Amino acid sequence: ARKERIAVIGSGNWGSVAAKLLASNARSQACFHDEVRMWVFEETLPSGEKLTDVINKNKENVKYLPNVNLGSNIVADPSLESTVKDATMLVFCTPHQFVESICKQLKGKVHPSAKAISLIKGMEVKPDGPVMLSSLITEHLGVDCSVLMGANIANEVAMEQFSEATVGYRSDTSIAKSWVQAFGTPYFHVAAVHDVEGVELCGTLKNVVAIAAGFVDGLGMGNNSKAAIMRIGLKEMIGFSKLLFPTVSDATFFESCGVADLITTCFGGRNRKVAEAFARSGGKRSFDELEAELLGGQKLQGVLTAGEVFQVLKARNWEEKFPLFATVHKIATGHLPPSAIVEYDQKARKLS
Ligand code: NAD
Ligand code: 13P
Repeated sequence: ARKERIAVIGSGNWGSVAAKLLASNARSQACFHDEVRMWVFEETLPSGEKLTDVINKNKENVKYLPNVNLGSNIVADPSLESTVKDATMLVFCTPHQFVESICKQLKGKVHPSAKAISLIKGMEVKPDGPVMLSSLITEHLGVDCSVLMGANIANEVAMEQFSEATVGYRSDTSIAKSWVQAFGTPYFHVAAVHDVEGVELCGTLKNVVAIAAGFVDGLGMGNNSKAAIMRIGLKEMIGFSKLLFPTVSDATFFESCGVADLITTCFGGRNRKVAEAFARSGGKRSFDELEAELLGGQKLQGVLTAGEVFQVLKARNWEEKFPLFATVHKIATGHLPPSAIVEYDQKARKLS
């Protein structure tokens, strides 16, 4: 049988861990080509060396995932075109704001029978309404696109600590099986559900709730307050997902991509961390400045996503239905103080 060739588009913190998981399966399973190519948005390190050269020499992404061996069969490539050449399994993992321009560059370049998967948490809002990243990839490249989301703080998966993830697939169970086979390891358990939108919206929307949880931390409040914000946030996640896509299943919120990812991100994620610093500064320092200072080149998704969700709320007159989502955006853009996150209880109570 034909061997599958895997390419990873993206090499940040999670992109590098995904490449490591895939490379270990490509080495050990005969159905995959040994080599896993990883596209790197090229940059020059302070040492004067190119990031791709250092990754290829040391098999380590010294900037975005230091001290972790990615595997002997990883090849870093600064060219999108040569990364995807002959690849039959395309794994997208970049911050969501860069995906559309990457897809435009890849148009007409991908293998005609390739399948894709998106590990990206975020959405785009077009004049006609929101578009999930998996749909954007399918629209631009004409390939099937599944998603993989879950409670997966990259640095913990990199250390091979037990965790779970959820694949959301479109319709073909053999495609779902291929992705489970490509990603699953004894320490990384992958389950598949027939609900692309549900899985993708879980991963996308929990980043907005994580910003709210970070505000609560930055205000010096305790566990009860954070649990309340997470509960209200989860209700808004479910309500918003089902209004956008009535096919979204309740059961999806109980998979790793749902409650579990919400919990891990609200306690250990980057969105939480930067939002805490923002609230500590009384909203005086900007998210852009804090992101650059605290994350060393890694990117937040929650603030942009709150803006994208807010556009949808405005366009559909849904602001009253989703007070937490709306408040996060207003705080992040300086229209409300951080303390407003716990001051909309009248509206929030209507939800429960
Ligand atoms: P990251 O946050 O580490 O972002 C840095 C990456 O962005 C680098 O590879 C950098 O080269 C790239 N980049 C910067 N400017 C660019 C540009 N103009 N064009 C293209 N690329 C550019 O990335 P990540 O952690 O791999 O996150 C990717 C996606 O995975 C996000 O949607 C994130 O929410 C999701 N995710 C992250 C984690 C995690 O713990 N890090 C876990 C699960 C899911
Ligand atoms: P952060 O981007 O907030 O670190 O969240 C990581 C994540 O998505 C874990 O699954």
